[in-house]
Amino acid sequence: MPEQLTAEARALVQRAQDFATRELIARAGAPASVARPEVVAAARAAGFFGMTQPREYGGTAASTLTLTLVRETLAANNAPFQDAVFGPGPGVLAGVGEPLATSHLAPLLAGRKRAGFGITEPDDAPAPTRARIDGDWLVIDGQKSYVTGGADADFINTLVQIDGQGPALVVIDTDLPGVRLTRRFSSIDGSHHAAFAFDAVRVPATHVIGKPGEGMPRAMRQIGDTRLLIAAQCVGLMRWTIDYLTGHLAAPDRSGRPRGDKEGVRLRYADLRIHAFAARSMLYRTARLADAGENVVNEAIACKVYASEQVGQVVDTAIQLVGGNALTDDHPLSILYRRVRSLRLAEGGSDVLRLNLARGILDLNKGRI
Ligand SMILES: Cc1cc2nc3c(=O)[nH]c(=O)nc-3n(C[C@H](O)[C@H](O)[C@H](O)COP(=O)(O)OP(=O)(O)OC[C@H]3O[C@@H](n4cnc5c(N)ncnc54)[C@H](O)[C@@H]3O)c2cc1C
Repeated sequence: MPEQLTAEARALVQRAQDFATRELIARAGAPASVARPEVVAAARAAGFFGMTQPREYGGTAASTLTLTLVRETLAANNAPFQDAVFGPGPGVLAGVGEPLATSHLAPLLAGRKRAGFGITEPDDAPAPTRARIDGDWLVIDGQKSYVTGGADADFINTLVQIDGQGPALVVIDTDLPGVRLTRRFSSIDGSHHAAFAFDAVRVPATHVIGKPGEGMPRAMRQIGDTRLLIAAQCVGLMRWTIDYLTGHLAAPDRSGRPRGDKEGVRLRYADLRIHAFAARSMLYRTARLADAGENVVNEAIACKVYASEQVGQVVDTAIQLVGGNALTDDHPLSILYRRVRSLRLAEGGSDVLRLNLARGILDLNKGRI
């Protein structure tokens, strides 16, 4: 698929491809404890690690299109250890002032502290997580669930309703008195999460990220970036799946003719390519708009909804065309089937995002798609 990429961007894609082959795929099957530090070192040397990090902290703050191209290329190889390639980004702590810049952002970017992101509340939470103000302190009560990586997190950037001031993102250290890890669990895609209860947790008021009342816009910016990240991974995984299927269809079936000779199979196969082409076109266009400084909140929603739904459909159809062998537990398509299912809920369920998009246009007269 030609994409009107500059020579520089094409060279970057080639570098990412070489990196995937040499540093990721070559380590498939290696224990994570050995492979991950090696991948981090290789990613630093290759200049990928700092792409997600701000310049003032030694990173290169790559453009959205640059990050999209690298993420898509790694995913198009279905390569292991992709999450070790990029350094921790600032997330909602981007641009934060003191004291959080020194106490939390710098150690996060250096890999000395780990962060979780706490927005989702358990279904049975009696009330949203809230804080009352006590002088220079916040006293927080509530619960969060589905905090990815929460069991290993040193702090959680938590959405809290501050009495009289509105929603805010607050940095809560997980070793504070009153913070209880109530549950660890993993989801179908293999990622790990934790649930927390906060019982009268005392947090300095300086741990509010930005200003009280800014919680939702800040959280939404972070979520918007992650939605594009998910869309890039989905597009890459669609490409990997279609490549896999192409190889399968070129091989002969029991009659000795190529499996791809059957017209019914070709119709399904063409659909997969059409969906992948559409998802990739949306993604690149949105990345370019973001780099031009446009607000792409609706475009990012569209990319994430479309790509996460289509990758599910692509993997599902590929399994159907390959047949029963693709359903064995260790088959790459079966592993992928479980992995991509979560993406229609993570960072906002598809229908909830559809409603957001419709509300922007119908109720707020905002958005152009
Ligand atoms: C892999 C993974 C990682 C995650 N990581 C994090 C994390 O780090 N931090 C965090 O805070 N959360 C995290 N989450 C949680 C995720 O953000 C939520 O699961 C997601 O936003 C959906 O919210 P919910 O599960 O509460 O479902 P609900 O909001 O209860 O929605 C469930 C379904 O109900 C229907 N529905 C809901 N509202 C409406 C409506 N208004 N109109 C029509 N239909 C509706 C839709 O069909 C929707 O899919 C993660 C989830 C996954 C799967």
